[in-house]
Amino acid sequence: MRIAVAKEIEVCERRVALVPDIVARLVKQGLEIWIESGAGDRAFFNDAAYEAAGATIIADINKLWSEADILLKVSPPQEREDGRSEIDLLKEGAVLISFLNPLGNPVIAQKLANRKVTALSMEMIPRTTRAQSMDALSSQASIAGYKAVLIAAAALPKYFPMLTTAAGTIAPAKIFIMGAGVAGLQAIATARRLGAIVEAFDIRPAVKEEVQSLGAKFVEVKLDEETTAAGGYAKEISEASKKRTQELVTEHIKNADVVITTAQVPGKKAPLLVTEDMVKQMKPGSVIVDIAAEQGGNCACTDPGRDIVAHGVTVIGPINLPSSLPVHASQLYAKNLTSLMQLLIKDKAVDVNFADDIIDAACITHAGEIHSARIKEALQAISSAVS
Ligand code: NAD
Repeated sequence: MRIAVAKEIEVCERRVALVPDIVARLVKQGLEIWIESGAGDRAFFNDAAYEAAGATIIADINKLWSEADILLKVSPPQEREDGRSEIDLLKEGAVLISFLNPLGNPVIAQKLANRKVTALSMEMIPRTTRAQSMDALSSQASIAGYKAVLIAAAALPKYFPMLTTAAGTIAPAKIFIMGAGVAGLQAIATARRLGAIVEAFDIRPAVKEEVQSLGAKFVEVKLDEETTAAGGYAKEISEASKKRTQELVTEHIKNADVVITTAQVPGKKAPLLVTEDMVKQMKPGSVIVDIAAEQGGNCACTDPGRDIVAHGVTVIGPINLPSSLPVHASQLYAKNLTSLMQLLIKDKAVDVNFADDIIDAACITHAGEIHSARIKEALQAISSAVS
């Protein structure tokens, strides 16, 4: 049973799928671990550390991909510089575990099925209590929420905490967090630790108590429709509700020194929460950090991957924030992967047991077929849009 870790080729990806500590535990269980040479370099885990943990370092990419029983990655497979697709490097019947973005890019599932790969998508792990230790969306979103606040604090031309000094009293900064899921809650906690006054808003009323327990004020928006979907996620709301929400949050945005937006709806473009008109009403020098930049952004002025100044407001649209903390992001992700592999490996062999609800939900392709009904639907929607 050979588990291989590939080096990430995505330019802004610094994370690695396994860290040396976790490798040592897997080796102890009798599993053979191959690490592509240099795979951990950008997360500060060098080849020597993996070797000391019992892994074999492999420089030959073809060998690593084609002889792996389970291939572990962080970012979805891509085309390589030599024009070959990473998916085509896998042997038939191999298992691939990675973030795969199958709802945003369902075509990847078709390619994996054609290659007869068993693919487990980390985005499809159910958000249940039993799956908590495998929940990479949460482990990585929490990092994004933390880092977004640090970025905002560094960009704000003011202090975050209240200070009483001989030269006068400084009022604390006012932070408004939009979207109080995993990233939003960590952003609240981090901004509170830095001494700011925090308000938060979400269309799911269930988060009110969590927001308050972190010491923030919950801005309540009552809508005449169900806002929570299966699994605790938000639903895409109607245009009328979006308009009503925007009206209600305008005052809070206007008064904030920092706005951090984290709102997302799985498989959809991020909802627009901050219009250009709202940005115009903010104080000069205020800061917006839009964590949803990669999904289209929650702010109309966001330029993904760039920091810009719009109407005197600094608007930051970071890409792949978890990758900016690669040591802990990799450590947590590696733990998520190994917890999932405990369900997948029986007696040192792969056992894809669809009776297990976590495997059933996470597995998107198996034995040449697309296993996930949601992805089949998404593919059908694409083909009917084309025809
Ligand atoms: P997410 O990244 O999909 O979205 C972030 C937040 O944006 C969510 O709180 C969502 O309600 C909010 N949002 C969406 N549209 C909005 C709008 N128009 N205006 C304002 N806010 C909007 O969500 P997530 O952080 O991955 O987690 C969502 C939920 O999943 C959690 O809060 C929780 O209920 C559930 N969850 C459960 C577990 C578990 O039980 N193990 C673990 C993690 C998450």
